[in-house]
Amino acid sequence: MWPAKRRLLLILCVLVALLTSWQPVAALRAPTMQMPRLRYCPTPPSIMLHSADGVYGMQWLVRTIEKCGLQTMTHRQISRPHQQGLYRPENAILVSLDDLGTSWLRQEFKDMISIFTEKGYVLTLGVVTGTEESTQKAEIWDYLQGLEAQGVEIASHSARHSLLNELNEAGLKAESEDSYSMLCKKLGSCPETFILPFGRGAESSLILKVLNEKYTNIVSIHAPRVFGGENLLFKRIPLVEQENNPREPKLSEPFFIQPRTEDSELLQQTRPNKTEAQ
Ligand SMILES: [Zn+2]
Repeated sequence: MWPAKRRLLLILCVLVALLTSWQPVAALRAPTMQMPRLRYCPTPPSIMLHSADGVYGMQWLVRTIEKCGLQTMTHRQISRPHQQGLYRPENAILVSLDDLGTSWLRQEFKDMISIFTEKGYVLTLGVVTGTEESTQKAEIWDYLQGLEAQGVEIASHSARHSLLNELNEAGLKAESEDSYSMLCKKLGSCPETFILPFGRGAESSLILKVLNEKYTNIVSIHAPRVFGGENLLFKRIPLVEQENNPREPKLSEPFFIQPRTEDSELLQQTRPNKTEAQ
């Protein structure tokens, strides 16, 4: 027979072991969404919208989101958890709309955005901020502030919509920092995402270096299909393949981008249990 003290200790150990593996306790210890950080994440389906897509394109997108059970997220909503080692939901879709101005705003933009926000969906808006010298309409900033309060992300789309490839370092800094400080000042919180004007510039290490001083996320047309690292580079694809049939939008290929093999394996290991996640 073991001494009573040792037996008690053994019982205690068994109890602790049982208790910590018991589902509710284990869940407290390690929340189901706590994923190991992936070296590279598969890029979420990332859609680029322009005013030309119009209300028709937006309505079509809403129907697709509903039909496919997709979850709208902003770039900030993807990158913040990524930095903490959390993984994005599998059904995430990123929608961004560019070229909103701060001295005047097309009604078309407002109509398109409200189709999304009325459903409780979120998107990222690329605002060309202008500068301290340009006209700034208070009602446009109020409108943008209201959208931010609804979870919409307001991103910088530069200060003057310059082609960044043609600028030197001082010019790049001006585009990056002028729009950054304008957004901080007018919205009361600073932007985390920069949408490249004309979708160009991600191939330049100088452009990325300057932008990364202020922004966590860079959104580009030309980008790898996977993103990784501290500063995320998001690839975006157009909604409409105009050459086929402008009245029949479809999500450009590839829509659901396959993760690379090693990510796919990691994904299998780290995927939250469906019943737990509900
Ligand atoms: Zn633009």
